[in-house]
Amino acid sequence: MSPITTTSKVLKGGAFLIESSDFQDLFIPEDFNEEQLMVKQTVQSFVEQDILPFTERIEKLEEGLIPSKLNAFAELGLLGTHMPESLGGSDLDYITNTLIGEEVGPSGSFSVSYNAHTGIGMLPILYYGTEVQKQQYLPKLITGELKASYCLTEPSSGSDALAAKSTAMLNEAGTHFILNGQKMWITNAGFADIFTVFAQVTGDHLPDGKSGFTGFLLEKGLEGFTLGAEEKKLGIKGSSTRQIFMENVKVPVENLLGEVGKGHLIAFNVLNTGRFKLGASCLGGAKKVASIAIQYAIEREQFKKPIASFGAIKYKIAEQAIRCFVTETAVYRTAQLIQNAENQFKNKGRAYADSKLEAAEEYALECSMIKIVGSESLDYVVDETVQIFGGMGYSEEGNVARAYRDSRINRIFEGTNEINRMVILSTILKSAMKGELDLMTPGIAVQNELMNGVASGEAFYGSYALEQQAVANFKKALIMLLGTAAQQAMGGQLDLKSEQEILMNLSDIIIEIWNTEGLLMRVMKIAVQHPGRDIDIYNAILRTYLHDASSRVVKQGTDAIASFILPDLQPAFITGLRKFTKYPLQNVKENRRLIADYLVKEGSYCI
Ligand SMILES: Cc1cc2nc3c(=O)[nH]c(=O)nc-3n(C[C@H](O)[C@H](O)[C@H](O)COP(=O)(O)OP(=O)(O)OC[C@H]3O[C@@H](n4cnc5c(N)ncnc54)[C@H](O)[C@@H]3O)c2cc1C
Repeated sequence: MSPITTTSKVLKGGAFLIESSDFQDLFIPEDFNEEQLMVKQTVQSFVEQDILPFTERIEKLEEGLIPSKLNAFAELGLLGTHMPESLGGSDLDYITNTLIGEEVGPSGSFSVSYNAHTGIGMLPILYYGTEVQKQQYLPKLITGELKASYCLTEPSSGSDALAAKSTAMLNEAGTHFILNGQKMWITNAGFADIFTVFAQVTGDHLPDGKSGFTGFLLEKGLEGFTLGAEEKKLGIKGSSTRQIFMENVKVPVENLLGEVGKGHLIAFNVLNTGRFKLGASCLGGAKKVASIAIQYAIEREQFKKPIASFGAIKYKIAEQAIRCFVTETAVYRTAQLIQNAENQFKNKGRAYADSKLEAAEEYALECSMIKIVGSESLDYVVDETVQIFGGMGYSEEGNVARAYRDSRINRIFEGTNEINRMVILSTILKSAMKGELDLMTPGIAVQNELMNGVASGEAFYGSYALEQQAVANFKKALIMLLGTAAQQAMGGQLDLKSEQEILMNLSDIIIEIWNTEGLLMRVMKIAVQHPGRDIDIYNAILRTYLHDASSRVVKQGTDAIASFILPDLQPAFITGLRKFTKYPLQNVKENRRLIADYLVKEGSYCI
């Protein structure tokens, strides 16, 4: 097993909102070890030599091409890096696995097939399979002999996945479940051998009297199991996406996955990891496309000058870089937390698969944030790249238009970004109700600070004191709003669940806190531990992002206050919000020029 990254203090899921972290403990990409860098290089070379030159053929869904590319990836040992050695995997640490996901990202359709196979395809078996099922399927999924898919969505149930209508009835002999129904949008369906299918167990013969939403493992070729035609999609055209139809499909009882009626645990827990992996791949895509934009801006001349010399283009280049850097920081911070939790569970004697499952579950909220931040950063980067390319961005020559189309799916699948924003809030409120997240104590302190002017929290000193204060204050702004919303919800004055606009406001503030805190810690660590780097660039990223984040917190906070605070209390809340979002004005124009000029000099995204 490869080296494991640990920290001295492990924050629980969501605890970053009320606790501070030591920047020295943060894992940052500047700390990749040699083994990790070698894996990165291997994947990068594979994508550049074995995938990108085949893009046109992949986009045309040439039969057998994606599966053969998955097989080639398997030959490099890269389909089982998250699997135990006992089953033929290489059990690499979480950070290395994240790096693999990131490096696969620029491959578009291949990346989607890879993530579906190794994530939502293989993980249900690892997490919930019996020992026999694991032995039967996982070694072959690791070598690529078998390919996997995950079948949750139906024509009438997407976000509301548990409302699936497919049924599973136990036969009289108790030997088989009979499955009927239809699944939609199934990635890898065209070539998959193993399908994790969810259906409602019902009928006259209930196993041990149990019924409800349940997982099953279906093998290709079962009688009554058929596929629809390939969907004609906006993007990721090279990834197979089909419907599946089940008409009296006989599935042996041995292929029940997990427990009857507990399919929701499989469906949702697997999605935590899926969302994280998606965010990591988006990061890789965003960094690659940002580099393409920089190169074009250097080469393309208008008005006798490279367009990279224009302030409007510098803004875009810098902003793309800032979003890539922030996303990267958040992705690896989450990877480290999950890895540390996994280690803790293993040290307590939990089984391999359970440690992984429970670690991802602990950080469900962070996984949702990574999905949102990754997909929205990528969308920003591809959109502005089309703009930097001008008319050529609108042409199917080159990869920019394809990247633009491919990117869009990421805000939709693995739970839409709206659903994930709701997951963020509901996870926090549940943890608070269970007493796992103490929002009360900081809530009282913030109230005191607002009413009596008694400053709460630690005082900050040193080069980053203003930034530390700003992040600490964002947390106070959130606590002020969240605490009041929770109080109103408990008192019956506010039905938070149906006030989704407010949930979205609060989720966005939480994401700003996560992003700004990680970014600040990374820059502080670079300043101390990587003195060879040009700290001015990192400071410019940090201060520009914080400048913008303050405005965004003001906007989200003001909307929330206007939406649920009683009118006579609104002025006090607005005063509190202003107090907690103060960050000195930054010369963002000069900061962005500094960042853009540096990238243009280097010729690619290289921060
Ligand atoms: C290319 C592609 C590949 C896919 N691969 C797979 C796969 O391999 N396996 C699989 O099972 N599924 C897969 N999906 C399905 C995907 O996960 C769903 O499309 C997604 O979950 C959204 O469901 P839906 O399309 O039914 O949209 P809907 O659920 O109908 O949502 C429509 C809109 O309403 C919003 N909405 C829905 N409910 C709420 C709510 N309660 N509150 C606020 N807003 C809400 C959504 O955010 C969205 O904006 C894939 C989809 C695509 C397009």
